[in-house]
Amino acid sequence: MNVNRIVYLDGAWLEEAEAKVSVFDRGFLFADAVYEVTAVIGGKLIDYAGHAARLQRSLDELALACPMAPEDLLAIHREIVARNALDEGLIYLQISRGPADRDFAFPGTASPTLVLFTQAKAVLDNPYNQTGIKVITVPDQRWARRDIKTVQLLYPSMAKMEALRQGAQDAWLVEDGFVTEATSANAHIVTVEGRLVTRPLSHAILPGITRATIVALARAAGIPVEERAFTPEEAKQASEAFVTSATNFALPVVSIDGAEVGNGRPGPITGRMRALYIAERLSLAEPVT
Ligand code: PLP
Repeated sequence: MNVNRIVYLDGAWLEEAEAKVSVFDRGFLFADAVYEVTAVIGGKLIDYAGHAARLQRSLDELALACPMAPEDLLAIHREIVARNALDEGLIYLQISRGPADRDFAFPGTASPTLVLFTQAKAVLDNPYNQTGIKVITVPDQRWARRDIKTVQLLYPSMAKMEALRQGAQDAWLVEDGFVTEATSANAHIVTVEGRLVTRPLSHAILPGITRATIVALARAAGIPVEERAFTPEEAKQASEAFVTSATNFALPVVSIDGAEVGNGRPGPITGRMRALYIAERLSLAEPVT
């Protein structure tokens, strides 16, 4: 772990070892907390507006008050990049309902805990861009409100561990015979006719910020997009498969449950979507001043 980071905790800038949260915090006791991850490239925030909007939506769904005005939250994101001299990586933000006596009912008086930290990471030079990743499929056993970005991540962690145990890099989650999404990314396929297929938004999946941008970019580039659910069998017959997330952009999937997708190598449409996403979002990214 990087022990030199400066983290933000409830109005204070602290050495990471000094940043402490109460054992009574409802994020700790009930997973009563939401989060966001924003990628940083060249010190710039990528797709920040989308992440800020989804954060507000998650908070609203849980009747959790945002402890800070939107412009101040943006300022804190910029400041944490500057304080940590972060060139490439991510900013993690978490808001929990805060400390209160343990009770299933939401407390009337708790004041939310706001934490931000950075993680340096080579997000552009991911070696899996060249090789693609292998995924397995597992039953989706998460709760039924996956559209809210909460810190209840134990089942996705278990699925990821099972994928690693089987020699894959990630798992695709399956419900009622259809792929919902990956453990921490949205799942997509490209049919042999060149159509991008992605599951429509609902309570079953997280409304990925990267997904939304990729769908818009695909449509603008003349790639037909079908928003519908697909089965693991259809995915195995597809010409390409890929996942999208804030720090992976578009990452190729070359094998599903041991079956090669397409020719078993990263596909051209995935590569094109990745390049379009990075070029377009970088040109829009706000500089840290
Ligand atoms: N789906 C799940 C379950 C996720 O955890 C994530 C990201 O963490 C995504 C999809 C991708 O969302 P985004 O593109 O906003 O990072």
